[in-house]
Amino acid sequence: MAAPKVAVVGAGVIGLSTALCISETCPSCSVTVLSDQFSPNTTSDVAAGMLIPHTYPGTPIHVQKQWFKETFTYLFAISHSAEASEAGIHLVSGWQVFKNTPKEELPFWSDVVLGFRTMSKAELQKFPQHQFGQAFMTLKCDCPPYLLWLEKRLKATGVQMYTRRVADLWELHSEYNVVVNCAGIGAHQLVGDKELFPVRGQVLKVHAPWVKNFIRDGDGLTYIYPGIHRVTLGGTREVESWSLSPDPGTTKDIFDRCCSLEPSLRRAQDIKVKVGLRPSRWCVRLQRDVLSQGGVKLPVVHNYGHGAGGFSVHRGTAKEAARLVGECIAALQVSSSRAKL
Ligand code: FAD
Repeated sequence: MAAPKVAVVGAGVIGLSTALCISETCPSCSVTVLSDQFSPNTTSDVAAGMLIPHTYPGTPIHVQKQWFKETFTYLFAISHSAEASEAGIHLVSGWQVFKNTPKEELPFWSDVVLGFRTMSKAELQKFPQHQFGQAFMTLKCDCPPYLLWLEKRLKATGVQMYTRRVADLWELHSEYNVVVNCAGIGAHQLVGDKELFPVRGQVLKVHAPWVKNFIRDGDGLTYIYPGIHRVTLGGTREVESWSLSPDPGTTKDIFDRCCSLEPSLRRAQDIKVKVGLRPSRWCVRLQRDVLSQGGVKLPVVHNYGHGAGGFSVHRGTAKEAARLVGECIAALQVSSSRAKL
Protein backbone atom coordinates (compact mmCIF):
# COMPACT_ATOMS: atom_id res chain seq x y z
CA MET A 1 0.00 0.00 0.00
CA ALA A 2 1.33 3.49 -0.91
CA ALA A 3 1.71 6.15 1.82
CA PRO A 4 -1.70 6.18 3.56
CA LYS A 5 -3.56 9.47 3.07
CA VAL A 6 -5.24 10.86 6.17
CA ALA A 7 -7.58 13.89 6.20
CA VAL A 8 -8.25 15.68 9.48
CA VAL A 9 -11.39 17.85 9.33
CA GLY A 10 -11.13 20.85 11.69
CA ALA A 11 -8.39 23.27 12.71
CA GLY A 12 -9.24 24.05 16.34
CA VAL A 13 -7.03 22.76 19.14
CA ILE A 14 -8.41 19.23 18.66
CA GLY A 15 -7.87 19.02 14.88
CA LEU A 16 -4.39 20.56 14.92
CA SER A 17 -3.14 18.48 17.87
CA THR A 18 -4.63 15.32 16.37
CA ALA A 19 -2.94 15.98 13.01
CA LEU A 20 0.36 16.53 14.86
CA CYS A 21 0.04 13.27 16.82
CA ILE A 22 -0.78 11.34 13.61
CA SER A 23 2.26 12.77 11.81
CA GLU A 24 4.45 11.90 14.84
CA THR A 25 3.16 8.32 15.24
CA CYS A 26 2.83 7.54 11.52
CA PRO A 27 5.67 9.36 9.70
CA SER A 28 4.89 7.46 6.49
CA CYS A 29 1.35 8.90 6.37
CA SER A 30 0.46 11.88 4.22
CA VAL A 31 -1.64 14.08 6.55
CA THR A 32 -3.89 16.94 5.36
CA VAL A 33 -5.95 19.34 7.52
CA LEU A 34 -9.18 20.56 5.88
CA SER A 35 -11.15 23.26 7.64
CA ASP A 36 -13.59 26.01 6.81
CA GLN A 37 -11.97 28.22 9.49
CA PHE A 38 -8.47 28.48 10.93
CA SER A 39 -7.11 30.60 13.81
CA PRO A 40 -8.15 33.28 14.81
CA ASN A 41 -11.72 32.27 13.83
CA THR A 42 -12.31 29.05 15.79
CA THR A 43 -13.95 28.36 19.17
CA SER A 44 -10.49 27.39 20.39
CA ASP A 45 -9.34 31.00 19.82
CA VAL A 46 -11.99 32.27 22.26
CA ALA A 47 -11.13 29.87 25.10
CA ALA A 48 -9.25 30.89 28.21
CA GLY A 49 -7.04 27.82 27.72
CA MET A 50 -6.65 26.99 31.44
CA LEU A 51 -5.71 23.43 32.35
CA ILE A 52 -8.48 22.78 34.88
CA PRO A 53 -10.51 19.77 33.74
CA HIS A 54 -14.20 19.79 33.11
CA THR A 55 -15.90 16.50 34.03
CA TYR A 56 -17.56 14.45 31.24
CA PRO A 57 -20.29 12.38 32.96
CA GLY A 58 -20.20 9.65 30.27
CA THR A 59 -16.43 9.06 30.27
CA PRO A 60 -14.77 6.97 33.05
CA ILE A 61 -12.82 9.20 35.45
CA HIS A 62 -9.59 7.17 35.04
CA VAL A 63 -9.74 7.86 31.28
CA GLN A 64 -10.32 11.60 31.82
CA LYS A 65 -7.46 11.68 34.30
CA GLN A 66 -5.15 9.94 31.80
CA TRP A 67 -6.06 12.48 29.07
CA PHE A 68 -5.45 15.37 31.48
CA LYS A 69 -2.15 13.94 32.71
CA GLU A 70 -0.83 13.43 29.17
CA THR A 71 -1.82 16.98 28.25
CA PHE A 72 -0.30 18.45 31.41
CA THR A 73 2.97 16.56 30.93
CA TYR A 74 3.21 17.63 27.28
CA LEU A 75 2.57 21.32 27.98
CA PHE A 76 4.73 21.34 31.12
CA ALA A 77 7.69 20.26 28.98
CA ILE A 78 6.95 23.12 26.54
CA SER A 79 6.62 25.59 29.45
CA HIS A 80 10.23 25.03 30.45
CA SER A 81 11.64 24.98 26.92
CA ALA A 82 12.83 27.85 24.71
CA GLU A 83 9.52 27.49 22.80
CA ALA A 84 7.36 28.57 25.77
CA SER A 85 6.69 32.20 24.84
CA GLU A 86 6.08 31.51 21.14
CA ALA A 87 3.74 28.63 22.03
CA GLY A 88 1.95 30.84 24.58
CA ILE A 89 2.35 28.27 27.38
CA HIS A 90 3.05 29.31 30.96
CA LEU A 91 2.61 28.19 34.55
CA VAL A 92 0.15 30.13 36.68
CA SER A 93 -0.67 29.89 40.39
CA GLY A 94 -3.95 30.82 42.00
CA TRP A 95 -7.05 29.89 43.90
CA GLN A 96 -10.34 28.10 43.39
CA VAL A 97 -12.72 29.45 46.04
CA PHE A 98 -16.10 28.16 47.26
CA LYS A 99 -18.98 29.82 49.10
CA ASN A 100 -19.73 26.43 50.71
CA THR A 101 -17.30 23.57 51.25
CA PRO A 102 -17.69 21.20 48.25
CA LYS A 103 -18.66 17.54 48.77
CA GLU A 104 -15.52 16.47 46.96
CA GLU A 105 -12.64 18.33 48.61
CA LEU A 106 -10.03 16.55 46.45
CA PRO A 107 -10.89 16.67 42.71
CA PHE A 108 -9.64 13.75 40.58
CA TRP A 109 -6.98 15.97 39.00
CA SER A 110 -5.53 17.28 42.29
CA ASP A 111 -2.36 15.17 42.04
CA VAL A 112 -1.70 16.16 38.41
CA VAL A 113 -1.56 19.95 38.91
CA LEU A 114 1.33 21.20 41.07
CA GLY A 115 1.25 21.87 44.81
CA PHE A 116 -2.49 21.33 45.33
CA ARG A 117 -3.51 22.20 48.90
CA THR A 118 -6.38 23.60 50.94
CA MET A 119 -6.13 27.37 51.43
CA SER A 120 -5.25 28.71 54.83
CA LYS A 121 -7.58 31.01 56.82
CA ALA A 122 -5.14 33.88 56.19
CA GLU A 123 -5.34 33.38 52.41
CA LEU A 124 -9.13 33.17 52.53
CA GLN A 125 -9.24 36.69 53.99
CA LYS A 126 -8.77 37.87 50.39
CA PHE A 127 -12.20 36.36 49.59
CA PRO A 128 -14.63 37.47 52.34
CA GLN A 129 -17.66 35.91 50.58
CA HIS A 130 -16.03 32.45 50.38
CA GLN A 131 -15.39 29.98 53.17
CA PHE A 132 -13.26 27.28 51.50
CA GLY A 133 -10.56 27.30 48.88
CA GLN A 134 -7.91 25.30 47.04
CA ALA A 135 -4.54 26.69 45.96
CA PHE A 136 -2.51 25.16 43.14
CA MET A 137 -0.32 25.84 40.13
CA THR A 138 -1.44 24.80 36.66
CA LEU A 139 -0.70 25.62 33.02
CA LYS A 140 -2.38 28.07 30.70
CA CYS A 141 -2.32 28.21 26.90
CA ASP A 142 -2.67 31.61 25.32
CA CYS A 143 -4.94 30.24 22.63
CA PRO A 144 -4.23 32.03 19.34
CA PRO A 145 -0.41 31.78 19.84
CA TYR A 146 -0.72 28.09 20.74
CA LEU A 147 -2.83 27.34 17.64
CA LEU A 148 -0.32 29.21 15.42
CA TRP A 149 2.53 27.27 17.05
CA LEU A 150 0.73 23.99 16.30
CA GLU A 151 0.19 25.10 12.67
CA LYS A 152 3.91 25.94 12.38
CA ARG A 153 4.85 22.49 13.73
CA LEU A 154 2.47 20.85 11.26
CA LYS A 155 3.93 22.74 8.29
CA ALA A 156 7.45 21.77 9.43
CA THR A 157 6.46 18.08 9.38
CA GLY A 158 5.00 18.38 5.86
CA VAL A 159 1.30 18.41 6.79
CA GLN A 160 -0.82 20.23 4.17
CA MET A 161 -3.56 22.65 5.30
CA TYR A 162 -6.42 23.79 3.08
CA THR A 163 -9.46 25.97 3.63
CA ARG A 164 -12.39 23.79 2.68
CA ARG A 165 -15.87 23.26 4.02
CA VAL A 166 -16.76 19.56 4.12
CA ALA A 167 -20.50 19.02 3.66
CA ASP A 168 -20.37 15.24 4.11
CA LEU A 169 -17.40 13.08 5.23
CA TRP A 170 -18.19 10.69 2.37
CA GLU A 171 -17.13 13.36 -0.16
CA LEU A 172 -13.52 12.61 0.93
CA HIS A 173 -13.64 8.86 0.18
CA SER A 174 -11.96 9.01 -3.23
CA GLU A 175 -9.09 11.24 -2.03
CA TYR A 176 -8.22 9.83 1.41
CA ASN A 177 -7.81 6.41 3.05
CA VAL A 178 -8.82 7.55 6.55
CA VAL A 179 -10.80 10.62 7.69
CA VAL A 180 -10.61 12.09 11.21
CA ASN A 181 -13.56 14.18 12.34
CA CYS A 182 -12.44 17.04 14.64
CA ALA A 183 -15.18 19.47 13.61
CA GLY A 184 -16.16 20.57 17.15
CA ILE A 185 -19.70 21.96 17.20
CA GLY A 186 -19.66 21.63 13.37
CA ALA A 187 -20.12 17.87 13.87
CA HIS A 188 -23.76 18.59 14.77
CA GLN A 189 -24.41 19.21 11.09
CA LEU A 190 -21.51 17.29 9.53
CA VAL A 191 -22.47 13.91 11.00
CA GLY A 192 -25.95 14.80 12.31
CA ASP A 193 -25.00 14.18 15.94
CA LYS A 194 -28.08 15.14 17.96
CA GLU A 195 -26.25 14.40 21.24
CA LEU A 196 -23.94 17.34 20.53
CA PHE A 197 -25.16 20.77 21.66
CA PRO A 198 -23.67 24.25 22.04
CA VAL A 199 -22.98 25.80 25.42
CA ARG A 200 -22.44 29.47 24.61
CA GLY A 201 -19.64 31.21 26.47
CA GLN A 202 -18.96 34.94 26.56
CA VAL A 203 -15.64 36.22 27.92
CA LEU A 204 -13.78 39.52 28.19
CA LYS A 205 -10.09 39.84 27.34
CA VAL A 206 -8.65 42.82 29.21
CA HIS A 207 -5.36 44.60 29.79
CA ALA A 208 -4.57 44.29 33.52
CA PRO A 209 -0.90 43.26 33.74
CA TRP A 210 -0.81 43.57 37.55
CA VAL A 211 -3.11 40.52 37.90
CA LYS A 212 -0.72 37.58 38.22
CA ASN A 213 -2.80 34.88 39.97
CA PHE A 214 -5.84 33.06 38.67
CA ILE A 215 -9.08 33.15 40.66
CA ARG A 216 -11.94 30.75 39.90
CA ASP A 217 -15.22 30.63 41.74
CA GLY A 218 -15.92 26.95 42.50
CA ASP A 219 -19.19 27.08 40.55
CA GLY A 220 -17.01 27.60 37.44
CA LEU A 221 -19.06 30.56 36.24
CA THR A 222 -16.85 33.44 37.37
CA TYR A 223 -13.14 33.33 36.65
CA ILE A 224 -10.07 35.51 36.18
CA TYR A 225 -7.30 33.86 34.19
CA PRO A 226 -4.14 35.90 33.55
CA GLY A 227 -2.35 35.12 30.29
CA ILE A 228 0.98 36.34 28.91
CA HIS A 229 -0.54 39.50 27.40
CA ARG A 230 -4.17 39.73 28.51
CA VAL A 231 -6.42 38.55 31.35
CA THR A 232 -9.53 36.51 30.47
CA LEU A 233 -12.61 37.34 32.55
CA GLY A 234 -15.54 34.94 32.48
CA GLY A 235 -18.04 33.86 31.94
CA THR A 236 -21.35 32.37 30.92
CA ARG A 237 -22.74 28.91 30.20
CA GLU A 238 -25.84 29.13 27.99
CA VAL A 239 -27.04 25.70 27.00
CA GLU A 240 -28.43 25.34 23.43
CA SER A 241 -27.73 28.98 22.52
CA TRP A 242 -26.24 29.30 19.01
CA SER A 243 -25.77 33.08 19.14
CA LEU A 244 -22.26 34.36 18.45
CA SER A 245 -23.18 38.01 19.12
CA PRO A 246 -21.79 39.56 22.31
CA ASP A 247 -24.46 40.72 24.74
CA PRO A 248 -23.69 44.11 26.41
CA GLY A 249 -25.72 43.27 29.56
CA THR A 250 -23.71 40.05 29.96
CA THR A 251 -20.45 41.98 29.51
CA LYS A 252 -21.36 44.26 32.43
CA ASP A 253 -22.45 41.30 34.56
CA ILE A 254 -19.18 39.40 33.93
CA PHE A 255 -17.12 42.51 34.68
CA ASP A 256 -19.00 43.19 37.95
CA ARG A 257 -18.71 39.56 39.10
CA CYS A 258 -14.96 39.53 38.40
CA CYS A 259 -14.46 42.89 40.15
CA SER A 260 -16.16 41.55 43.24
CA LEU A 261 -13.51 38.77 43.33
CA GLU A 262 -10.62 41.07 42.35
CA PRO A 263 -11.55 44.76 42.90
CA SER A 264 -8.37 46.04 41.19
CA LEU A 265 -9.91 44.96 37.86
CA ARG A 266 -12.00 48.17 37.95
CA ARG A 267 -8.86 49.78 36.45
CA ALA A 268 -8.61 47.22 33.61
CA GLN A 269 -8.33 48.72 30.13
CA ASP A 270 -8.95 47.83 26.49
CA ILE A 271 -11.86 45.43 27.11
CA LYS A 272 -12.50 43.08 24.17
CA VAL A 273 -15.55 40.77 24.15
CA LYS A 274 -15.50 37.27 22.62
CA VAL A 275 -18.12 34.57 22.24
CA GLY A 276 -17.65 30.85 21.53
CA LEU A 277 -19.82 27.73 21.37
CA ARG A 278 -18.48 24.88 23.49
CA PRO A 279 -19.04 21.58 21.61
CA SER A 280 -20.80 19.77 24.46
CA ARG A 281 -21.79 16.16 24.82
CA TRP A 282 -22.39 13.56 27.54
CA CYS A 283 -18.94 12.18 26.65
CA VAL A 284 -16.23 13.02 24.14
CA ARG A 285 -16.87 11.03 20.95
CA LEU A 286 -13.52 9.31 20.45
CA GLN A 287 -14.08 6.17 18.42
CA ARG A 288 -13.65 4.36 15.09
CA ASP A 289 -16.50 4.27 12.60
CA VAL A 290 -16.89 3.07 9.00
CA LEU A 291 -18.89 4.77 6.25
CA SER A 292 -19.84 2.62 3.30
CA GLN A 293 -21.65 3.04 0.01
CA GLY A 294 -22.01 0.47 -2.77
CA GLY A 295 -19.45 -1.86 -1.18
CA VAL A 296 -16.84 0.94 -0.84
CA LYS A 297 -15.72 1.66 2.72
CA LEU A 298 -14.21 4.75 4.35
CA PRO A 299 -12.69 4.34 7.84
CA VAL A 300 -13.40 7.33 10.09
CA VAL A 301 -12.10 8.30 13.53
CA HIS A 302 -14.25 10.77 15.49
CA ASN A 303 -12.63 13.10 18.01
CA TYR A 304 -15.06 15.83 19.04
CA GLY A 305 -17.41 16.93 21.83
CA HIS A 306 -14.81 18.28 24.29
CA GLY A 307 -17.24 20.84 25.75
CA ALA A 308 -15.75 23.17 28.35
CA GLY A 309 -12.47 21.27 28.66
CA GLY A 310 -10.89 20.84 25.23
CA PHE A 311 -7.59 22.50 26.11
CA SER A 312 -7.29 20.52 29.34
CA VAL A 313 -7.38 17.14 27.58
CA HIS A 314 -6.44 17.87 23.96
CA ARG A 315 -3.08 16.07 23.82
CA GLY A 316 -4.48 12.96 25.56
CA THR A 317 -7.43 12.67 23.18
CA ALA A 318 -5.20 13.45 20.17
CA LYS A 319 -2.87 10.58 21.13
CA GLU A 320 -5.81 8.19 21.40
CA ALA A 321 -7.22 9.36 18.04
CA ALA A 322 -3.80 8.83 16.43
CA ARG A 323 -3.71 5.29 17.88
CA LEU A 324 -7.15 4.60 16.35
CA VAL A 325 -5.93 5.96 12.99
CA GLY A 326 -3.00 3.51 13.28
CA GLU A 327 -5.50 0.65 13.77
CA CYS A 328 -7.46 1.74 10.67
CA ILE A 329 -4.26 1.84 8.57
CA ALA A 330 -3.15 -1.59 9.83
CA ALA A 331 -6.58 -3.01 8.84
CA LEU A 332 -6.32 -1.40 5.38
CA GLN A 333 -2.83 -2.86 4.90
CA VAL A 334 -4.10 -6.35 5.79
CA SER A 335 -6.97 -6.11 3.28
CA SER A 336 -4.72 -4.65 0.58
CA SER A 337 -2.18 -7.50 0.94
CA ARG A 338 -5.02 -10.08 0.94
CA ALA A 339 -6.33 -8.55 -2.30
CA LYS A 340 -2.90 -9.09 -3.92
CA LEU A 341 -2.85 -12.86 -3.09
P1 FAD B 1 -13.18 24.27 17.41
O1 FAD B 1 -12.14 25.12 17.99
O2 FAD B 1 -14.55 24.84 17.24
O3 FAD B 1 -12.68 23.73 16.01
C1 FAD B 1 -13.53 23.07 15.11
C2 FAD B 1 -12.93 23.21 13.74
O4 FAD B 1 -13.70 22.47 12.80
C3 FAD B 1 -12.91 24.66 13.23
O5 FAD B 1 -11.69 24.90 12.57
C4 FAD B 1 -14.08 24.68 12.24
O6 FAD B 1 -13.89 25.67 11.24
C5 FAD B 1 -13.97 23.27 11.67
N1 FAD B 1 -15.19 22.76 11.04
C6 FAD B 1 -16.41 22.60 11.62
N2 FAD B 1 -17.28 22.08 10.73
C7 FAD B 1 -16.60 21.93 9.57
C8 FAD B 1 -16.95 21.45 8.26
N3 FAD B 1 -18.19 21.02 7.99
N4 FAD B 1 -16.00 21.43 7.29
C9 FAD B 1 -14.75 21.87 7.55
N5 FAD B 1 -14.36 22.33 8.75
C10 FAD B 1 -15.27 22.36 9.75
N6 FAD B 1 -11.31 24.61 27.59
C11 FAD B 1 -10.32 24.42 28.50
O7 FAD B 1 -9.78 23.32 28.60
N7 FAD B 1 -9.93 25.44 29.33
C12 FAD B 1 -10.51 26.67 29.29
O8 FAD B 1 -10.11 27.56 30.05
C13 FAD B 1 -11.58 26.88 28.36
N8 FAD B 1 -12.20 28.07 28.32
C14 FAD B 1 -13.23 28.27 27.43
C15 FAD B 1 -13.89 29.50 27.42
C16 FAD B 1 -14.92 29.72 26.50
C17 FAD B 1 -15.65 31.04 26.51
C18 FAD B 1 -15.26 28.72 25.56
C19 FAD B 1 -16.32 28.97 24.53
C20 FAD B 1 -14.62 27.49 25.59
C21 FAD B 1 -13.62 27.24 26.54
N9 FAD B 1 -12.96 26.00 26.62
C22 FAD B 1 -11.95 25.81 27.51
C23 FAD B 1 -13.40 24.87 25.78
C24 FAD B 1 -12.57 24.77 24.51
O9 FAD B 1 -12.54 26.02 23.87
C25 FAD B 1 -13.17 23.72 23.56
O10 FAD B 1 -13.34 22.49 24.24
C26 FAD B 1 -12.23 23.49 22.38
O11 FAD B 1 -11.87 24.72 21.80
C27 FAD B 1 -12.87 22.60 21.33
O12 FAD B 1 -11.96 22.50 20.28
P2 FAD B 1 -12.34 21.89 18.87
O13 FAD B 1 -11.08 21.87 18.07
O14 FAD B 1 -13.11 20.63 19.06
O15 FAD B 1 -13.40 22.93 18.27
